[in-house]
Amino acid sequence: MQTYALQINGKPVLTEDTFEVIDPALGKPFANCSLASEALVNEAIGAAKSAFPAWRDTPLEQRAALLNKLADALESNMPALMELITREVGKPMGGLNGIGSGMEVGGAIAWTRATTALQLPVDVLQDDETMRVEVHRKALGVIASITPWNWPLMIGIWHIMPALLAGNTVVMKPSEFTPLSTIKMVELANNILPPGVLNVVAGYGETGSALTSHSDIAKIVFTGSTATGKKIMQSASATLKRLTLELGGNDAGILLPDFDMAMLPKLFATCFHNNGQTCACLKRLYVHSSQYEAVASGLAAIARDTIVGNGLNEASQLGPVQNKMQYDKVSELAAATKAAGATVLSGGEPLESEGYFFPPTVYTNVSDGDRIVDEEQFGPLLPVIQYDDIDEVIERANRNENGLGGSVWSADINKAAALAGKLETGTVWVNEHGAVQPNAPFGGVKQSGLGVEFGEYGLDEYVSLQTVMIPKAG
Ligand code: NAD
Repeated sequence: MQTYALQINGKPVLTEDTFEVIDPALGKPFANCSLASEALVNEAIGAAKSAFPAWRDTPLEQRAALLNKLADALESNMPALMELITREVGKPMGGLNGIGSGMEVGGAIAWTRATTALQLPVDVLQDDETMRVEVHRKALGVIASITPWNWPLMIGIWHIMPALLAGNTVVMKPSEFTPLSTIKMVELANNILPPGVLNVVAGYGETGSALTSHSDIAKIVFTGSTATGKKIMQSASATLKRLTLELGGNDAGILLPDFDMAMLPKLFATCFHNNGQTCACLKRLYVHSSQYEAVASGLAAIARDTIVGNGLNEASQLGPVQNKMQYDKVSELAAATKAAGATVLSGGEPLESEGYFFPPTVYTNVSDGDRIVDEEQFGPLLPVIQYDDIDEVIERANRNENGLGGSVWSADINKAAALAGKLETGTVWVNEHGAVQPNAPFGGVKQSGLGVEFGEYGLDEYVSLQTVMIPKAG
């Protein structure tokens, strides 16, 4: 089995202590990964700190050109990266509705290129006979990036591209379940970027916390669970580190009574792609009583036809749940939901296999207050909830501590857009759910997070604003 090395100061670092990376389709390890001690985390931060002044002072165009070369390298390594993602995450190469490891690598390349086109303008607020007042955007220093296991490469790229473009240096800590595609990407970057500009350490929560509590970290960008986000916020307080937190979601989708049943396959994919293990999957579906039975049974029929299997098989639309812990969590929630009296229209039980396979599961006879509705399931379990009154259903959708995304589906697009605007979430969609694009801000409100990513809005989170006041002569 190959052992993957940490990447510190432009060089691979193999450690004596390693941990196994499991292929969730087989339930068996397929690679080893070096484990970073606290001393190595400190070394990576030191390398990033030393590399910072020269990288900050490199002209923006040059930084952008180097990052574009990284996009080229990702492109020429696309097949190998796709296979690595499928093996460590489990998601199919193609996937339901084209959402698989091909989209993950393609998205990483697209986001890299789109980010390199951004500028860091100097704003001129005043320029008259007495004074010139400018606002400059300045790099912060060393950024810590901590990522989850569901979209390791793409989320890593979302973190590091604006950070690096703005002139910061970075230490990444990918999830212990899926460190390999991130390591491979940093290895490619080492052929392009100056040593120390981008580093990666691997390990468990304590490796993450060694990073987030270090006084030389200027900012933490974290994507993961709300519980870990709260711990990170606490550890950031000691030296008042800046934070971007992209946390859990429990997105509601509301079908208005004129929902077009021809959209059922699209609706299904927004709930179940990557087995529901995407922050902005549709996780609570509210359906008007006039269509309730038809929508729920239509979704269950699609669920039964969906091919669940090893992601390396071309036919597979859904792979396994990503890790044993999540598989056990999903299995427990499914058992509790059935025991509480929900009707199981499809799936409902783990599949017999060596891997962590769980079929797409559709529930009716569930309501607000049930665990399956109130908690983020982060797995292939969908509660379909009945409603009668539109104003009331908006209130029910908003009655949740999360506020990542939400959607309204209707043949009347204007009506749907007006209602969608009433959802207390960072993003709302009409006849769609979970779509993101590189120029539109993405982030959560309430306990789904702090700050946004993408485009100019996201780039501004990696700089400090410096006001420069210059009196005119005389
Ligand atoms: P997690 O919080 O368990 O782990 C995320 C990362 O944090 C891992 O790298 C982990 O090692 C690290 N970590 C754990 N404890 C730490 C600590 N004390 N200090 C520093 N780092 C620590 O999350 P997960 O299970 O990997 O991901 C699933 C969650 O992520 C879901 O809730 C999902 O909704 C959320 N998510 C959110 C978004 C978004 O953009 N809002 C995107 C993807 C996933």
